Amino acid sequence: TVRVRIAPSPTGNLHIGTARTAVFNWLFARHHNGTFIIRVEDTDQARSRPEYTQNIKDGLSWLGLNWDEGPYFQTERMHLYKQAVQTLLDKGYAYRCYTTEEELNQLRESQKARNQAPRYDNRHRNLTPEQEKAFEAEGRKPVIRFKIDDNREIFWKDHIRGMLTWKGSDLGGDMVIARASSREDLGQPLYNLAVVVDDMDMDISHVIRGEDHIANTAKQILLYEALGGTIPEFAHTPLILNEQGQKLSKRDNVTAISDFYKMGFVPEAMANYMTLLGWTPPDSTQELFTLDEAAKTFSLDRVSKSAAKFDWSKLDWINSQYIHNMETTRLLEMLVPFWEGAGYKVDLENNRAWLEQVTALIAPSLTRLTEAVEQTQVFFQDTVEFNEEARSQLQQEGVKPVIQAIAEALKQDPQLSEDKAKALIKTVTKEQGVKKGLVMRSLRAALTGEVKGHDLMQSWLLLNQKGVDQRRLEQALN
Ligand code: GLU
Repeated sequence: TVRVRIAPSPTGNLHIGTARTAVFNWLFARHHNGTFIIRVEDTDQARSRPEYTQNIKDGLSWLGLNWDEGPYFQTERMHLYKQAVQTLLDKGYAYRCYTTEEELNQLRESQKARNQAPRYDNRHRNLTPEQEKAFEAEGRKPVIRFKIDDNREIFWKDHIRGMLTWKGSDLGGDMVIARASSREDLGQPLYNLAVVVDDMDMDISHVIRGEDHIANTAKQILLYEALGGTIPEFAHTPLILNEQGQKLSKRDNVTAISDFYKMGFVPEAMANYMTLLGWTPPDSTQELFTLDEAAKTFSLDRVSKSAAKFDWSKLDWINSQYIHNMETTRLLEMLVPFWEGAGYKVDLENNRAWLEQVTALIAPSLTRLTEAVEQTQVFFQDTVEFNEEARSQLQQEGVKPVIQAIAEALKQDPQLSEDKAKALIKTVTKEQGVKKGLVMRSLRAALTGEVKGHDLMQSWLLLNQKGVDQRRLEQALN
C-alpha cells in the first residue's frame, strides 16, 4: 500500500516548492488509493512558529490537497528520536564527538588551503570513556555522530531520476544526528535522524521530495540500515526556476502560496498549474484538468528530470480559463473579499442579484480576481470621476443636449429595462439628429467617466438599478 507524506518545516509560509511537492505526493496517493500524510518538522524550535503551521495547513486546504493523517508534529515525538539515538550508540553505529566549532573551523580552513572539499575527519570516532570525561570536564558539549564508511557505495533507483549512486566518502564524514548538552543527554535530534525515524514509524512507502535532498537520501539509507528499517522508494522532484532560469527567490514574487491568493489566483488554477510544473499528462496537449482528473493518470515516470520554469503567462492563462468557466455564484463569493479589501460596500444578503450581474458582466475580461476591483469601481462608487478622454468626449459639439435629453427622460420615468434603454437611445438619436455612435460614446463617458469599458447597456442597467445613472448624467452636464 502506498503511504506518502509531506514534511514541511514551519519556519515560513507554505512555499511554492513545498506546495508543488505536496501536489505530486497527493496525486500519487490518490492514484494508488493510498494515504497522504502531513508531518510538521518543527524541531527547530527557535525558527518554528504556530502561525506558519497554520499558513501551511490553510494553503494545502485552499489548494484542495486534503490529507488523511496528521498533522503529526515532530516536537511531540522527541522520545522516539532519543530512543533511536540510544540504539545507534548502543550498537556502536554512533558516538559522542567533542570537536569544538573552533576546531571544525580550523579543519575547514586547512582543507580549503589544500583545495579539498570540507569534511569532518572523524577524529573522535574511537574515544575512550576517560577521554570523553576529560572533554566534558573542559566544558565541551557533545554532538552525536553517525559513522559513515568511506568505502560504502550507496545506490537506489529513483522513480524520477533513475539509478543514483553515492560514495560514502562524498558525504562529508561522520554525520551529526543530534546535539547534546551533556554526556547523559541524548540531545536535540537533527533532520536526517528524525526524518528516518518518522518515515519508518509511519510506514512511508514512497518518499517524494525536492532534489535538494538527494545527498540526504544517501545518508538516510545508511540510517535505515543501521536502525533495521525497510528502505522506502525515493523520487526526487526537479527544482522550479524563474523565467531567467535561476532558482526561485523572494524577488520573483513567487514564494508563498498565500501570496498567490492575494494576487488573485483561484485555487483550482493554481493546483492545475503546479501539476504542470514538472509533470506531463499522458495526453500532452491537455492543459486544463482538476486534481482528481490528474490523479487518474498521474505517474512519477512522467515527471521531468530537468528543472521546471515558472511561467507567469501560462499561469495567467490557466487562471483566466477557470474564472471564465466558473459559476457566477462562486465567482461572486471569490470576488467579495477583494472588493471589501478595496473598501467597497458589498451587501451580499440584500444585493445578491445585482452583485451577480456585476460579476457576470466582468467575468469574461478577468485574468486575475484582483482586476475586479478596478473594473467595477464605476459600479461601486457613488460619484464618477471623468478621465481626460471622457471629459473631452463630453465637450464635443452636440453632446450636452443628448445627455440632457436622456437625463430628462429618466426624470420622468427612472426605471429602466434593456428595451426601454434601447428605445430611448433611438429616440434621442433621431430627435437630436446625431449619429448613434455619438450618443453611445457620450452616454458611456457620462455614466462611467471613461470612453472604454464593459458592455454599455448592461453597465447602464446596473447603474440604473443602483439609482445613480440620473445623477451621473446631471454631473456630466456641469
Ligand atoms: N522538512 C524538510 C523540508 O521541508 C522535509 C524534507 C523531506 O521531505 O524529507 O525540506
